[in-house]
Amino acid sequence: MSDFGLIINGKKLATAESFGVINPATEEIVAQCPVASKEQLDAAVSAAANAYKTWSKVSDEERAAACGKIAAAISDHADELARLLTQEQGKPLDGSRFELGGAGAWAGYTGSLSLPDKVIQDDENARIIQTRKPLGVVGSITPWNFPLMIAIWHVVPAIRTGNTVVLKPSPFTPLSTLRMVEIVNEVLPPGVLNCVTGTNELGQWMTEHEGIAKIIFTGSVQTGKKVMGSSANSLKRVTLELGGNDAGIVLDDADPASIAPGIIQGAFMNNGQVCAALKRLYVPASIYDKMCDELVKAAPTGKMGNGLDEDTAQGPLANKMQYEKVVGLLEDAKARGGRVLCGGEVPDGPGYFVPFTIIADVSGGMRIVDEEQFGPLLPVIKYTDLDDAIAQANGLEVGLGGSVWSSDTGKASAVAARLESGTAWVNQHGPIAPNVPFGGVKCSGIGVEFGEEGLAEYTTIQVVNVAKSAA
Ligand code: NAD
Repeated sequence: MSDFGLIINGKKLATAESFGVINPATEEIVAQCPVASKEQLDAAVSAAANAYKTWSKVSDEERAAACGKIAAAISDHADELARLLTQEQGKPLDGSRFELGGAGAWAGYTGSLSLPDKVIQDDENARIIQTRKPLGVVGSITPWNFPLMIAIWHVVPAIRTGNTVVLKPSPFTPLSTLRMVEIVNEVLPPGVLNCVTGTNELGQWMTEHEGIAKIIFTGSVQTGKKVMGSSANSLKRVTLELGGNDAGIVLDDADPASIAPGIIQGAFMNNGQVCAALKRLYVPASIYDKMCDELVKAAPTGKMGNGLDEDTAQGPLANKMQYEKVVGLLEDAKARGGRVLCGGEVPDGPGYFVPFTIIADVSGGMRIVDEEQFGPLLPVIKYTDLDDAIAQANGLEVGLGGSVWSSDTGKASAVAARLESGTAWVNQHGPIAPNVPFGGVKCSGIGVEFGEEGLAEYTTIQVVNVAKSAA
């Protein structure tokens, strides 16, 4: 029996089954997570479909105001949610507070966006208006790295545009989402936002569900492909925000001391568990040694430990699966001649701790370069020819973000334009904002989030074409 329950039609519901959610800092159970049955998923979809009948018709102003109320509700409960998030995800409390601040900011800003009707033609022949209508029930499937912020990225634009939602968090971090949805339900009509939890199978049931009109999914490339496949039968709309293996390219005119802090920030934020983290750094041979020295000087040195301790600077990786993957990549790089510049020694348990690690003398063809690490590892690759470095940066199936570092922003921008990525940063890596579209190219995804373009993805176009001459 769990203190947590599914949230369906504004009510908290118990389930027959549950599983223990592990605190990655201690490997102890935080609480039991409810496991929704197929019938409970059906009930959540029915509740959302029923609420849609009214919510799709309330005024635009009312829906905009609801976004503000969601932001306020999150802010009022930020401390409670931050503690719960840290317990199940591992990030230090400051990181959890940052995530909740982001969630509130995104919810508030999304309230201010709108998609007004467009007059395409208005003359003696016809008046043609393009309007945007909601889709119906949106299924949201979220990952474990920023569970609350990403849930808000999915849910708020859906609600803003008149859809209703069934949200399914990752089985690694379900508790804070269940609690957040319970809190948000205090300011929304019943059924507008529902939350179901369980294993990965539940995600698959959602993608197959005839009552769900669209899936917004954030997660790995591998799962994204499955989501797209099983959404095809009912021709669901899909937005897929998938993994990346972002390259940073340093140009030979860059000043290593001044760019090192930004590179470290881009690589190690959230313990490297960021879809658009800097995951491979290409550095010209002429400044390679100097760049390596400056990266080590800029690397974080704060205390690694339980995120609930206020003086902790680095928490554990979020779960055992990710820990084993990151340790495997690190060991493989060491075995194949990678030179550890800092970190590199994984402490004994309990807890899934891996220190911030920078590795030199690695190259394409090694797992640490070719695979998305999604952890606190930064491989530094030497290059002699810029065209070759750009080809290597573009040489993988993914294309989420990328960055170019130089003293000449004009030159860097020209190189940035050659990157096959949804976002190309110059002299920074990772900043995102609620008014700036964000998404991946190639296997990093389909569609965008944020801004008006992101909002439009939760709508369908209707054209009303009124003949004038025939009257
Ligand atoms: P994951 O793909 O393992 O899981 C994501 C979600 O999908 C979870 O809720 C999971 O339960 C669910 N799921 C699993 N199998 C499913 C199936 N067959 N059908 C439907 N749903 C299913 O990803 P993760 O490990 O939770 O997250 C890490 C990945 O997410 C990384 O690759 C990272 O780069 C990516 N990510 C991308 C973005 C972005 O905006 N592009 C943001 C954050 C994370």
